[in-house]
Amino acid sequence: MSAVSVGARRGPVGLGSDSTAVVEFRHVTKTYSRTHTHALRNVDFRIEKGEFVYLTGHSGAGKSTLLNLMLRRILPTEGSVVVNGFDVSRIRVGRLPQFRRGIGMVFQDHRLLDNLSAIENLTFALRAVGARGNLEQRAMQVLRQVGLAHKRKAYPIELSLGEQQRVAIGRAMVTDAPLLLTDEPTGNLDPDTAMEILELLNDINLRGTTVVVATHARDLVDRYKRRTLVLRNGELVRDDAHGGYSL
Ligand code: ADP
Repeated sequence: MSAVSVGARRGPVGLGSDSTAVVEFRHVTKTYSRTHTHALRNVDFRIEKGEFVYLTGHSGAGKSTLLNLMLRRILPTEGSVVVNGFDVSRIRVGRLPQFRRGIGMVFQDHRLLDNLSAIENLTFALRAVGARGNLEQRAMQVLRQVGLAHKRKAYPIELSLGEQQRVAIGRAMVTDAPLLLTDEPTGNLDPDTAMEILELLNDINLRGTTVVVATHARDLVDRYKRRTLVLRNGELVRDDAHGGYSL
């Protein structure tokens, strides 16, 4: 049980989407009108609750566009994107905070607040979503989970890159979002540290969080074989349940 309350975990149901799908793309096309770039063409897939999915493809294939659609930073040109029960094209402004609370995001560069310690970065994230209760206790629980309880007072500059990424993952998890999106989470790390981060994401997935890892890292995708979506020139050309890296 979480020590804090951050409101309902699930979005509204009844949008025509099956309630076990955490992400659903239906015939999604994204065209950037200014440059006439067809970044995604007729992309169709579902990610079920509790899945671990790699998103791969060469640079320019459309991975960031796909993540940005899930985060509702951009809207589809055609088709629909449903995340945690919310159709991103139809969310009312008043529901946006609830939509955002449903997704934890980890970037290649950790984007921690440099003037806050590890634990303060997590409690800050909790306050930002209006969480109530014992925030320090919840933050410590998550720092333990990412293996960094002993570094709770350390500032980002006092942590290794791998430790900084662990804090960033902790920050993305602390509000109990059911979906964790990661964009090249191991991009800045040496191979051993990258593997440790992947193992941590795997642990988080085993505890029930749906995890999406957008990555180029062939060795990681090959080591932990999981469902792999492959984009090529904006098209979903492979959706392989057994995974492995091949573009
Ligand atoms: P990836 O993340 O796989 O490298 P992107 O989604 O960033 O791929 O890019 C897909 C295509 O869309 C590329 O041709 C890219 O140049 C183009 N693109 C990405 N973002 C924009 C944007 N904001 N405006 C115009 N074109 C974009």
